[in-house]
Amino acid sequence: MVLLSGGMDSCVCAALAARDFAAAALHVSYGQRTEDRERRSFLAICGRLNIRDTLLVRNESLRAIGGSALTDENLAVPTSQAIDDTVPVTYVPFRNAHFLAVAVSWAEVLGAEKVYIGAVEQDSSGYPDCRPAYYNAFNQVIKAGTKEGTIEIVTPLIHLRKAEIVTLGLELGAPFDLTWSCYSRQDQACGVCDSCVLRLRAFAAAGIADPIPYATMDQIV
Ligand SMILES: [Zn+2]
Repeated sequence: MVLLSGGMDSCVCAALAARDFAAAALHVSYGQRTEDRERRSFLAICGRLNIRDTLLVRNESLRAIGGSALTDENLAVPTSQAIDDTVPVTYVPFRNAHFLAVAVSWAEVLGAEKVYIGAVEQDSSGYPDCRPAYYNAFNQVIKAGTKEGTIEIVTPLIHLRKAEIVTLGLELGAPFDLTWSCYSRQDQACGVCDSCVLRLRAFAAAGIADPIPYATMDQIV
């Protein structure tokens, strides 16, 4: 099973899972600004990768709790320049634990033994739930708290640079044209939020044109 948000990292992760297994894909929306657009990307990517076993769920709690620019309209999504080395306001408190909990529940029912997630430590926004130690600890929780204790979270991209993920995606035929990474807009990617800038830099470093349109691309360098 693969957790697929619809962004570039999860798309490459899904392409890996689909190459090696009869993959099932899970999408969790949570009232984030771009939820409709991300859901569309999820469905399109599954179609292109031939993943037929899909589950879409909506987590109501993360938006109700708020505390993130992605889920609270009163908190602006910062431009990449405004970001320093603290955890940014786009961090959704303990979000990935919610996703992993749903994924492991579904994995238990399906009999899937691996849950792929496209977490990236370097070249990321510095979110604490993207660190290897977090996934190691989560695997202990799964071992202790599931029927067979055999399900494992797999993070194949966690040590890769973002440009390496682009290159790997091209090798795998990952459908980057169908992905959505922007935090703030659904019509065109804004080109200035942290997620857009990290993505544009990754494609530029890999020497490949990003196939999706941007409202502005001033921030590449
Ligand atoms: Zn953006």
